[in-house]
Amino acid sequence: MSLQVGVIGTGMIGQDHIRRLTRVLSGVSVVAVSDIDRNRAADAAPEGAEVFAEAGDLIRSDKVQAVVICSWGPAHEAQLLDCIAAGKPVFCEKPMVTSEAAALKVMEAEVAFGRRLVQVGFMRRFDADYRRLKAVIDGGTLGAPLMYHSTHRNASVPEGLYTSEMPLNDTLVHDADVTRWLLDDEIAGVEVRVPRRSTRGKDLRDPVVVLLHMASGALVDVEISVNIAYGYDIRGEVSCEMGVAALPNRPATVISDRHGIRQAIPEDWRERFIEAYDQEFREWIVAAGQGTATGPSTWDGYAATLVADAALRAVESGQTETVAMRDKPDLYARPVAAVA
Ligand code: NAP
Repeated sequence: MSLQVGVIGTGMIGQDHIRRLTRVLSGVSVVAVSDIDRNRAADAAPEGAEVFAEAGDLIRSDKVQAVVICSWGPAHEAQLLDCIAAGKPVFCEKPMVTSEAAALKVMEAEVAFGRRLVQVGFMRRFDADYRRLKAVIDGGTLGAPLMYHSTHRNASVPEGLYTSEMPLNDTLVHDADVTRWLLDDEIAGVEVRVPRRSTRGKDLRDPVVVLLHMASGALVDVEISVNIAYGYDIRGEVSCEMGVAALPNRPATVISDRHGIRQAIPEDWRERFIEAYDQEFREWIVAAGQGTATGPSTWDGYAATLVADAALRAVESGQTETVAMRDKPDLYARPVAAVA
């Protein structure tokens, strides 16, 4: 029987996830949708799906077995707590929550429940190129990782996200999470440097360079440019003791004509990570069908929240700000069985 899913938040990514859940993936159906804007929810609802005015009513509905949260960040905390109270597996888009206090509340509720229910939307962990890069590092033939260079460039910022903090509280979480996962290391401190601003960015603090000090002593630099016009460009290179491993340029048709030789650049995250999003949901559907969650956890969402908070402090202080994590609860220390 297919997993009956309710989707909360039917904006840009909510609509894209509804498309993949209804038209791309199998073993799942979207039976309910909800959005603060009821008309937007009704427009996005697949045929036969019920439209709920209140997210809480969707979560508690008997017809919904698992929930996908795509509302804006500040709404995630209450919606996650409702899912945990209902004992329903939930996929939550990043940022998991927007404060340390909220992250701790969600973590405490899940630990008290006693089983993992939450998967956070860090889709890079499901990207085939990132997985191959991690396999090389884990294989150990290059020795220990010493440095990681991460580049995160967006062509533009959607109107609703236009704040000076956005590069640090919205964008950095992807680089922070993929760094922790690739290097199998925690982030202990964060430094931020702001070069000359792009004149295209109005009030945006853009670009920024973030230095992540890892618990092992490895050092990570992240270039974040959210307004760079030419496209969505994600790169990564790990320098190890005996070699370097880098993400490949995405395979794309090479065009040769009178303008020269060139390859297309993805327009945005939907295009670059389309297969990663599909795979992240493929694995979520299997785990959710078993009443649990496997991929990036509440612990990972908590870590990313602390890093974003430290980055915001660091940009003000000009100093390295410490990331002080609690001890990891056993629930997240257990190895998670791989899901095919
Ligand atoms: P969006 O286009 O603004 O869509 C969010 C939708 O949620 C809007 O329709 C919004 O309504 C609605 N909403 C807000 N509060 C709600 C609530 N309490 N209950 C129900 N619906 C509510 O934003 P988006 O770009 O889709 O982003 C949604 C989430 O996905 C964000 O957390 C974002 O960071 C994340 N995201 C992740 C990735 C990724 O690569 N993993 C990429 C893009 C976005 P109003 O517009 O009326 O407020």
